[in-house]
Amino acid sequence: MNHKRPLPRSLDPLADETLTGFVLRLAHRLGTTPGEIAVRTGLAPQGRPGLPTRLPLGFLHHLSGGHLTDFAHTTHLTPGEVEGLLLAPLGKRYGPLNSALTPRSTPGRMIYDNPWILTRSTRYCPLCLAGDGDSIQALHGGAWKRIWRLPVAFLCLRHRRLLQRECPGCKTPAQSVRTASAIARLTDDTLHPTQCRFTPRPVPLQQPETACAADLTRPDPHPAPDTATMSVLLRVQQQLMDLLTASGPPTAMSAGSPVPVAHYFADLRATVAMIFRTWPAASEYASTPRLTAALDAEYTSRVAQAEPLINTSGKKKTSKPYAAPPMDSLATGAVLDIASQLLQAPDPHEARQRLAPLVQHLRDADRALSTYLRRPAWISQPLRAAVKDNWPAGEELAA
Ligand SMILES: [Zn+2]
Ligand SMILES: [Zn+2]
Repeated sequence: MNHKRPLPRSLDPLADETLTGFVLRLAHRLGTTPGEIAVRTGLAPQGRPGLPTRLPLGFLHHLSGGHLTDFAHTTHLTPGEVEGLLLAPLGKRYGPLNSALTPRSTPGRMIYDNPWILTRSTRYCPLCLAGDGDSIQALHGGAWKRIWRLPVAFLCLRHRRLLQRECPGCKTPAQSVRTASAIARLTDDTLHPTQCRFTPRPVPLQQPETACAADLTRPDPHPAPDTATMSVLLRVQQQLMDLLTASGPPTAMSAGSPVPVAHYFADLRATVAMIFRTWPAASEYASTPRLTAALDAEYTSRVAQAEPLINTSGKKKTSKPYAAPPMDSLATGAVLDIASQLLQAPDPHEARQRLAPLVQHLRDADRALSTYLRRPAWISQPLRAAVKDNWPAGEELAA
């Protein structure tokens, strides 16, 4: 029995829209706050007076049965449409969100300590965010897309430009929040869905705190990379998007054998960590000088992040800075270009040859990371075979 009353009006979800993007657009359409929408749709904790101050980050990823039916009922959507606003279904094809390849004690823990999914901020394409000219989008903006929450998305294929990461006004990552809330300023009804909701550091005596409010549909003026670099990045991004599409192929080649697509993305994740931890061992695979430079800079910043961790007591976390995808879109494209080339070997023997320098280097430099990355519940079986320490004598001779 559902006691919540449906909202007077709703919206059709846009293609690949996030739950938070939908809530922002709906609040704007109804002339109210996102917090009020959370209350009316059952996302806010029940039985508490006033508007909620935070929306759990986990709601981006999945909604439990009661939350899902209440939300669907009140917004005039089908449960299937609500599912389509969440990140969890992407795990069918994206290994870092798939429990077989990213083990977690409960499904709710999937997004925690998982740098391969962006929950506290997002990348975005300002031109997509501006809408496609349709009248509803002209009023309330385009979709804040789910795909932008996956770090493997670094470029908009439609507009052929690198995704932006920061608000051009306050320079904080887009849609970021100070508290662990999926939407900032839940009680603010003055902002358009495409405006920055970040509250810059409160200035004493300056009340009330106002939002940055920058228009995120304005493209930043940074020049695009050179043509050769862009054509590499477009190709790599197209390949990955083809695999992530729900109607895409069921398998991809990884380490010389076909694997389910989710396994391929898990293999990319492990290969990226190997590339950074052993840089510049794989630098010969960088396709252009601009991409090499992006990775050199990225590597330097990772070494700087790991440095202070070397002498800390307790469990060693020095590998962690190397295992995350880059924040920067260009560096992400650069490392995924190399990772996909390393995994693209036509047969298992060639895969082992390509990966051997990284495997050896990693074993010497970071035994813990080497063991961690090669766990069965982390990478595909063909990649595990390609990076294992000892091959049977016959195969080693053939090498
Ligand atoms: Zn775009
Ligand atoms: Zn801002």
